[in-house]
Amino acid sequence: MRQLLRPLALVLALLLLLTPGCSPLHSCLHADEPEVLDAEKQALRDALSMARPDTPPYTGPSLDVIVIDVGQGDSILLISPEGKTMLVDAGPQDAFRRIRKVLDAHDVTALDVVVATHPHEDHIGSMADVLNACPVGMYVTIPQDPPDDVGAALSKNGCSISFAEGGTTIPWSESCTVTVLNPVPGYDTEPEDLNDQSVVLHVRYGETAVLLTGDAEALAEKRMLDTFPRSMLRANVLKLGHHGSSSSTGFSFFLAVDPDFAVASCGAGNDYGHPHMETLSLLYDTRTAFYSTDTDGTVTFHLDGETVSVDLS
Ligand SMILES: [Zn+2]
Repeated sequence: MRQLLRPLALVLALLLLLTPGCSPLHSCLHADEPEVLDAEKQALRDALSMARPDTPPYTGPSLDVIVIDVGQGDSILLISPEGKTMLVDAGPQDAFRRIRKVLDAHDVTALDVVVATHPHEDHIGSMADVLNACPVGMYVTIPQDPPDDVGAALSKNGCSISFAEGGTTIPWSESCTVTVLNPVPGYDTEPEDLNDQSVVLHVRYGETAVLLTGDAEALAEKRMLDTFPRSMLRANVLKLGHHGSSSSTGFSFFLAVDPDFAVASCGAGNDYGHPHMETLSLLYDTRTAFYSTDTDGTVTFHLDGETVSVDLS
């Protein structure tokens, strides 16, 4: 199926050229015209969507990675083969209803681990609601002051609190290994540069793995590349950094991860233009299957230790 990607994109580009009132003679394709850029981006997204592989339905135990549709933000629920639960981020302020719906659908009433990648509103906006609704075993974050409501909810919840440090592991599941890759120790980061302090997690089950990158951008990616062997970054599934922004997912980092599947968590028609054209082009050029919550809703990856299947229902 991947081999069809480029021909399909060319056909779509040709259709764009042949659209009534839009021909080369009329200089339609001014690259700086927003509506042309939007059309080209849509054509690329359509081509990526049509080139998705058919994945087999999963059977047997799996590590489930559920990228919840929370609009413009991140919230990802992981369920290990033996039923351990971990929530990475809690979306923007209005996201709790959507998170709750997914927790209920999987009969999750308590969370073994909750990770707050960094205290930006689109990642921690509904965290207080989560902490007030669910008993939590361990809360993992970075050493930055949380918003007042989260601080109060943490005290009330009574969970243990740990600060993430690259190169360490988080005890979660007997069958899965959760390795922290960022923040990389030994680097000074400006306090206001929160994106590059994002907790980055590599979660492995058997021969399959997912990389969750928060909003880590080029600086954090370089630090991880400089610090860890490529084998620690390699993953079948990549949650694109910073909602698919061009400020993340640099070529070297992407090559090291070498994913088969990529997913962006972003809101439909968001003000930032996420996911960006540069990121989509990279996925297109590398024949990477692409999914996004703005068009697909909640996206579930089942990693069974050998293969990955995708569920959009
Ligand atoms: Zn964000």
